[in-house]
Amino acid sequence: MYSSLGISDEVIELVNKCETKCIDIFNQIDKECEFNSLKVLTSFHKNKISESHFNSTTGYGYSDLGREGIEKVFQDIFGSEDALVRSQFISGSHALTVCLFALLRPNDLLLSISGKPYDTMDEVIGIKDNSSSLKSFGVKYDQIDLVNNDFDYKKIEEYLKSNKVKVIEIQRSKGYSTRKSIDLEKVGKVIKLIKSIDKEIIVMIDNCYCEFVGGGSPIDVNADIVVGSLIKNLGGGIAPNGAYIVGRHDLVELCGERLTLPGEGKEVGPTLGINKQLLQGIFMAPSTVSSALKTAILASCILEELGYEVEPKYNEKRVDIVQNIVFNDKDKLIKFTRGIQQASPIDSNAIVEAWDMPGYNDQVVMASGSFTQGSSIELSCDGPIREPYIAYLQGSLTYPYGKIGIMKAIDNLINK
Ligand SMILES: *Cc1c(COP(=O)(O)O)cnc(C)c1O
Repeated sequence: MYSSLGISDEVIELVNKCETKCIDIFNQIDKECEFNSLKVLTSFHKNKISESHFNSTTGYGYSDLGREGIEKVFQDIFGSEDALVRSQFISGSHALTVCLFALLRPNDLLLSISGKPYDTMDEVIGIKDNSSSLKSFGVKYDQIDLVNNDFDYKKIEEYLKSNKVKVIEIQRSKGYSTRKSIDLEKVGKVIKLIKSIDKEIIVMIDNCYCEFVGGGSPIDVNADIVVGSLIKNLGGGIAPNGAYIVGRHDLVELCGERLTLPGEGKEVGPTLGINKQLLQGIFMAPSTVSSALKTAILASCILEELGYEVEPKYNEKRVDIVQNIVFNDKDKLIKFTRGIQQASPIDSNAIVEAWDMPGYNDQVVMASGSFTQGSSIELSCDGPIREPYIAYLQGSLTYPYGKIGIMKAIDNLINK
């Protein structure tokens, strides 16, 4: 069966050997999945989720029972005061944008303490010119880089003692950088420091790719507002689009007023038939995330075995579902990415080429033969065409499909 996919015996043997090495770690992931599943199910029971929640609204979308149920479930999962979970958000980047525009006013200062934010935020903040950016509205921006994969606590303290900051953004996942992703322990420690200097600062977390990896949530460590995408972890591969914002009630209200309109806020938003998919997505999410984690761990183990630099290593504690592979070679990055595309269920015949993707500064290669366009909880691999040619691999709706995808990509890399 494998040879029909063009996978050689040599690769099968290598992958199976590595899989055996990963068994104990896989067992640990199954335990975390069980814990998160319990969290989801308990919330479904508490909120009496029923078939009537699958009904939908059109037009204004007043009193949409399903929408309200979904938001209660997200609230429980994060332990937050309020939640805004909407398909009117295009994706995570849009929700981050809405959140920033909701919280910041002219002359306010936005500070990122995890280095430069995700590429799609460049034009939103005004790091790259855009006449609709926060900067164009007079919102100021500054950033403090990480040092040795941790916050620069000293610099942050000094900065906050001499500047009035309105919002601090922390991006947990690495984006297209080479740093490590940031665990909740560090997030908690820096929030404690921030609040000890100025209680009024709003701490906003870009939580993309981190949901259901381990047990906790940024709300547990006193983050004020948390944002993420539904075409990643919490959509469970079933949500067709959308994003969430959870956190303090007053702040989530502001986001609602910005997403829709002042005066209507969270009260409106037709669900147009999407409620069942969002509920089923969050229900599946613990399992989907654990499949993605196992796929990432297996890939890390194999590529390390083949001599490539990987981050994280297969046996390292994970914060998100993203696996970096440093190829140091443009051709190898493209070969690997093409292999992932060839093993995808959709568009497997498409050949990956580098392109100028909207919102990104460098050309990007992206394998995403997914049911949902751009979904990266499905097996996907992307990377900017710049040194040191790093592949960012993530997702897989199931582990077997992930394993097969990795096999195909490895075969492409070493045999083609
Ligand atoms: C993917 C990602 C985003 C953007 O999410 P989309 O749903 O693709 O718009 C933002 N921040 C980080 C860290 C991400 O990984």
